Formats: sequence, C-alpha cells, structure tokens
Amino acid sequence: MTPDPFEPDHIRALRDQIARFIAAEAPPERRRAWEARQDWPRDVFAKLAALGICGLTIPEAYGGLGEDVAAAVAAVEELARAGTFLAGPFIHCAFYGGMNISENGSPEQKAIMLPKLARGDMFFAYGLTEPDVGGDLSSVRTRVRREGDELVVDGVKRWATGARFADYLYCLCRSDPDAPPRAGLTFILVPLDAPGVTITDLGHTAMRYTHSCDVTMEGVRLPASAVVGGEAGWGRGWSMLAGRALDVEKLEVAAVAFGTARACVEEAWSYAQMREQFGRPISGHQAVRHALVDARTKLEACRHLLTHAARLAGAGHPCGVESSMAKLFVCEAAVEIGLACQRVVGSYALEPGCELDRGVRDLLSFPIVGGSSNMQRNNIAAMLRLKS
Ligand SMILES: Cc1cc2nc3c(=O)[nH]c(=O)nc-3n(C[C@H](O)[C@H](O)[C@H](O)COP(=O)(O)OP(=O)(O)OC[C@H]3O[C@@H](n4cnc5c(N)ncnc54)[C@H](O)[C@@H]3O)c2cc1C
Repeated sequence: MTPDPFEPDHIRALRDQIARFIAAEAPPERRRAWEARQDWPRDVFAKLAALGICGLTIPEAYGGLGEDVAAAVAAVEELARAGTFLAGPFIHCAFYGGMNISENGSPEQKAIMLPKLARGDMFFAYGLTEPDVGGDLSSVRTRVRREGDELVVDGVKRWATGARFADYLYCLCRSDPDAPPRAGLTFILVPLDAPGVTITDLGHTAMRYTHSCDVTMEGVRLPASAVVGGEAGWGRGWSMLAGRALDVEKLEVAAVAFGTARACVEEAWSYAQMREQFGRPISGHQAVRHALVDARTKLEACRHLLTHAARLAGAGHPCGVESSMAKLFVCEAAVEIGLACQRVVGSYALEPGCELDRGVRDLLSFPIVGGSSNMQRNNIAAMLRLKS
C-alpha cells in the first residue's frame, strides 16, 4: 500500500521495524508449520517483545512506552500480514492484558501485572462468551460469590481463545443475581492453573495460532484481590466491558482483519502479474484487473475508517460510534476482499497450507468475534439514538 504521508514518523518507523522482523523471523514456510501445529512460536514472540512493543498500551510508570493506541493498532496490522501467529499473542498481552489493566486495574494489580505485560511475559484470555450466551453478554451465568475473605467462581466460558497458554482468564461473572442484568456483573481474574479450573479444546478452522477452549470453573476459590479494579470494581463489570477498553478491542479486531486482507491483496496482485493465460498476464484481462482494483479500493476505505477511529481513541476522544463502524465495515469488507483475491488466484489459492487459504479462513471469523456485525449495527443505531 502507498504509505500514509500523514502518519507520524514514529509509527512509520514501527511498521518498518515489524516488517523487517517478520521477513527475518516469520517467513511463509515457518507460518505453514505453525498453522499445521495450531500453535505460535514462543521464541520468536520473545524476540518481538524484546523490541518493547508490548508496552504500547502501558504507562511509562509501569515499564511501558506510554499508551499509544494508534501505534498499537498499527503494530497489530503489520503483525497480521503474517497471520495470527504473532498478532494473536501480542493482543493477549498488550490489549487483553495491558489495555484492560491500565484502564480498569486496581493500583496493586497495575503494580504487579503491568511490568510483566510490558515485557511480554504475561497473557490474558477473554472469558465473555458462554455456551448459552453470545452477543447478549449482560445475561452471563458464570457466578462469583463472596465467602468470608474469599471469592468462589462457578460456571463455563466458551471460545476462550488462548486459555491453554494464558496466565489469567479475564472473566465476566454475575456477582449479584438480584440486580438488573447490567448492574450485577464483575470481572474476575481467574488464574488458569487454579484448582477447580478445567480446560477443553474446541476445534476451529480460523485463527489457528492456538486453540479456543471451554473453561469450566467448579468451586474455584480466589482471594478478594482477584476482582478487577479491587473492591471498587465489584458490580462494575458492565461499565468496564462497555468502556474505552472495548472501543480499543474493536479496533484491534478490525486491525487483524485489515492486515490479513492486505496480505491477501498483496499476494493476488503479485500473482496476477506473473501468471499468464491466453498469452498475457491474467492481470491484463479486464475482469481480473477490475477485481484487483476493487479489492484495493475497499482496502483503502478500510484504512481510512480504522486510522480515524484509532486516532480518536488515542487522543482520548469519545469514539464508540467510530470504533463500532470500523469493526463493522473493515471486518465485512475484509471478507469480500479475501474472497475476491482467492478467485483471482484460482486453484492455487485452495492448496492446503497456502497463505491465501489461511487468510480467507481467518477473515471469515472477524465479523463474528469481538461482537458480531449485527451487534455493531445495533450499537451504532443506539449510540446515534435512532428511534426504534
Ligand atoms: C474462533 C473464535 C474465537 C473466539 N474467541 C473468543 C474469546 O477469546 N473470548 C470470548 O469470550 N469469546 C470468543 N469468541 C466468541 C465470539 O465472541 C462470539 O461467537 C460472538 O460474540 C457471537 O456470539 P455467538 O457466536 O454465540 O452468536 P449469537 O449471539 O448466538 O448470534 C448468532 C447470530 O445472530 C445474530 N444476532 C443475535 N442477536 C441479535 C440481535 N439482537 N440483533 C441482530 N442480530 C442478532 C448475531 O449477529 C449472529 O449473526 C470466539 C469465537 C470464535 C469463532
């Protein structure tokens, strides 16, 4: 893509640094091996973290680089050009962990966790979805109750991506069953090796940097300090869920979709100029030319929406509408882009292990994860006070 001339120099330098890192450490043959194993490379991620990028969501006082949402989103985009193998763990560390604890953690949680998160030494998994709870998160049934000085957690979380490698489940629980649905929720940090926690892998074709899992919690006993935000966080789960961290969460999913779609366009654009049929490169046939130009144009539109929302979020402006629009538009357009690129490349895009095949499978998941497209439409209509 043409570089954005208005992008700050430090973000452009970050993109170049990550692109060089990917070329050296995550070439296509290694990506194919990670995909086949459904795993991500700890050693490569450690080298990536040594560049300091996990601190892009964390204040300097805790060992981070100072929160820089636009740079963190750009990092996700660049990493996602090589699949989810590094982008995924980066998100579990810098966003699920760093962003949420910086935004919502108690002083004690910040002091203990943020330095580790900034170094890339700690990972969170999200525990929002349940077997009977998808988009309607205010109806979660996983229960946390107080017993003396302790907390007891019971329930099942579904699709908890990365629960096998993460240190903590950032777990949305019902703390007051008698309160109105949104008032009785609390986030609990559940260590994934705690007694009473059982993890079961679920099979899936997208985002194969790890497994998504069922996490079953039976009588899991935790100290009161496991409440996100400490005592003040009890009953504040909904405001943490719907707050600024969620706006940034939507951008991070859109950034993975954008980076993945960009890689699809780059591959199809290059292939179409090498592959010859009927005496000319297939890029010389008008239908193929138009398909590629349409894909690039949609990609450019995605970049504008995503960049605008990330800049608003980074500057601390309200950006609920813009981040939902970016999540909705980019994730939907990215599917169209990926499918168009797959058609341009033709049969070779269906080979197992091929980058485009993996990219399209990943792209199909983004309109679902992190709040489905319809949830974004509902949110945008509500935020813009559209009469119902
Ligand atoms: C690979 C993968 C990884 C995931 N990782 C995680 C994770 O780490 N942590 C986690 O907590 N969850 C995770 N999820 C779950 C994901 O966030 C949910 O799938 C998503 O929130 C949607 O929930 P659902 O699939 O149960 O759909 P449902 O909520 O059952 O909805 C099904 C369909 O109905 C539509 N719909 C529902 N209600 C409405 C309405 N009111 N108006 C209009 N349309 C509606 C939806 O848009 C959707 O199209 C993951 C899912 C996948 C596939």
